[in-house]
Amino acid sequence: MRQAVIRTGLETLYFTGAYIALRGLLGGVGAILTLHHVRPARADAFQPNRLLEVAPEFLENVIVELRRSGTELVSLDEMHRRLTTADFGRRFVCLTFDDGYRDNLTFAYPILKKHAVPFAVYVPTSFPDRLGDLWWVTLEAAIAAAERIDLAIAGKSCSFRCATVAEKRETYRALYWILRSLDSEEDLRAIVRDLAARHGVDPSAFCERLCMSWDELAQLAADPLVTIGAHTVNHLMLRKQPEEVVRREMLAGADAIEAALGVRPDHFAFPVGDPTSAGPREFAIARDVGFKTAVTTRPGVLFPEHRNYLTALPRISLNGEFQRLRYVQVLTSGAATALWNHFRRVDAA
Ligand SMILES: [Zn+2]
Repeated sequence: MRQAVIRTGLETLYFTGAYIALRGLLGGVGAILTLHHVRPARADAFQPNRLLEVAPEFLENVIVELRRSGTELVSLDEMHRRLTTADFGRRFVCLTFDDGYRDNLTFAYPILKKHAVPFAVYVPTSFPDRLGDLWWVTLEAAIAAAERIDLAIAGKSCSFRCATVAEKRETYRALYWILRSLDSEEDLRAIVRDLAARHGVDPSAFCERLCMSWDELAQLAADPLVTIGAHTVNHLMLRKQPEEVVRREMLAGADAIEAALGVRPDHFAFPVGDPTSAGPREFAIARDVGFKTAVTTRPGVLFPEHRNYLTALPRISLNGEFQRLRYVQVLTSGAATALWNHFRRVDAA
């Protein structure tokens, strides 16, 4: 339902041409795009994490369309230079990929290389260390395997039916948001681990299967087109952690990347990155520990004012549920996110 509303809004902005009229006013100077998986679409009916993936052809079409429209595709360092020196001659877009999935190397990299597009990959170092907890993937697998789920959350017992695909979708949506709203991410992860154990799912397998190893990351890092960014060690929602953990996660993640790849990352992405995961305290710490930029998942395009908020930058997600070029045109025009943000340019509170 919510997706249908978003889709209608994007279609309206496109077909009325409103996004073109609004672009000069709202479009800012550039945008940072967020991607996760890039891989061919799968046929499975139950894919609640599908919003986190786009098809390789879609990525290529986006690149071609952005270049056709006169947008420059630039690295995070170049974005930082433009923001800090107010060099806004041409609109720019940065492509960023979160979490270091292996399909970035297999499917995205050949396309990015072919078109000579700079891009960044933000790596939580527990993933190539093979200790990562991809709890959202584990939750999907447990619900896929289960007919019914019974569990206790914060002392209350709940049960969910998940015999049919429709029930599985509804259960995933409900459970995901209940878990995300918990104050303790340790509780969230314990609940998902327990569910996995009861439904025969091995959570430790996902890291190895889905994420790049350090050797694979080194292949990417050797290409001057590629920026490896930091994304903590354990991919925790930092706003829910004590300050010393926030600092440790930021610094230890950067240290591990420097030790493995020989280059200290200058750029950082907040895990999950919404306002419940990253706020003013985290923006200040990211600056304090020395990152040149840090990105959130708060939706928005970049304005000159963002030079004062370099560790609280918004991004636009290329959502797998909306793989239409016209949505990308509308989103990068700034029109949709301006509505979302009530025409406020900077959201760093
Ligand atoms: Zn992430």
